[in-house]
Amino acid sequence: MSQSEFDIIRHYFADSAAAFPRAGVELGIGDDAAILEIPEGQQLCLSTDVLIADIHFPATADPDLIANRALAVNLSDLAAMGADPFCFTLGLCLPEINSHWLQAFSTGLSRLARQFDCPLIGGDLNRGPLAICMQVQGLVPEGKAIRRDGARPGDAIYVTGTPGDGVLGLASLGLPTHLDAQLQFDQSALQPDEQALLNAVYYKPLPRLEFARSCRELVSAGIDISDGLLGDLGHIATRSGVAAQLRLAKLPASALAQKYLEPEARQWASLCGGDDYELCLTVPEHKRAEFEALAGGLTVTHVGSIVEGGGVQCLDEKGKEVPMASQSFQHFRVVD
Ligand code: ADP
Ligand code: MG
Repeated sequence: MSQSEFDIIRHYFADSAAAFPRAGVELGIGDDAAILEIPEGQQLCLSTDVLIADIHFPATADPDLIANRALAVNLSDLAAMGADPFCFTLGLCLPEINSHWLQAFSTGLSRLARQFDCPLIGGDLNRGPLAICMQVQGLVPEGKAIRRDGARPGDAIYVTGTPGDGVLGLASLGLPTHLDAQLQFDQSALQPDEQALLNAVYYKPLPRLEFARSCRELVSAGIDISDGLLGDLGHIATRSGVAAQLRLAKLPASALAQKYLEPEARQWASLCGGDDYELCLTVPEHKRAEFEALAGGLTVTHVGSIVEGGGVQCLDEKGKEVPMASQSFQHFRVVD
């Protein structure tokens, strides 16, 4: 590694507010590898995401927001496991050394790292097309992680927040989405405050860490629905060996989705919009009241139930199955 690269790592990462000391991190940035001490009775939970410029975020976006989104989407995977953030590593590939870009990136990264008590403990720096690879590490009490394979017939299915807003956030930036033909969303009609709200949905998704931690011993299975509710709930069904029935009329929608999308488009957005860093959780019937009480200010909606069988079925208000051509959903799925 050249001296200048070493200076960059020191200035923007090792000496930044993102690399703060934390119990359990015995050795952070500076050696060939970091050393972690896993507390007695806890398990280490790891997740990695690669974000590539102009595929997962616009290359010209504010670097502070790029960093915010990159760490937030990684932390959402820890939330989906019911794990508490522990620390993270950062692999950064940069086309050029731009001190303004690096400073803003470091600022965004530090803000989120501190907000979630998740320090930067190492990484790598390379020259090449702009890309970010993060690995987040979380801690969860032994055997208490929320997995995809625990759903059982009779369990209720819940979603947090209002799925569908993620794809609106993407569209609000003027970027193409895989649902453009279905949504017919005219982003030029957005008011400035609505535009700001959707920008925040895209760049500052709030990982549902606190809620997941509070309910991890109640739920039977869970996943984050970053690829769209329908597909991600399908993963729970497959891994658990059960079927999931979704009541279409119960899908929650934000005020913005209600204002700007026709009912059918809204359904498409909620079911397979993607980029929603919300959770889909299954809850045994007798634990539902306790689960709902934990939600506090967070919108948590009962959208269906787990039954014997396989796959995901969408039901209308009368409980009749609405045929959903799996082909078309496949076609619209984001490939990443
Ligand atoms: P090595 O050559 O042994 O792989 P490097 O010279 O690449 O190590 O990195 C030196 C130190 O700086 C290591 O502790 C590494 O984890 C850390 N580091 C490198 N790049 C980054 C980065 N982008 N963010 C945080 N830490 C980094
Ligand atoms: Mg290296």
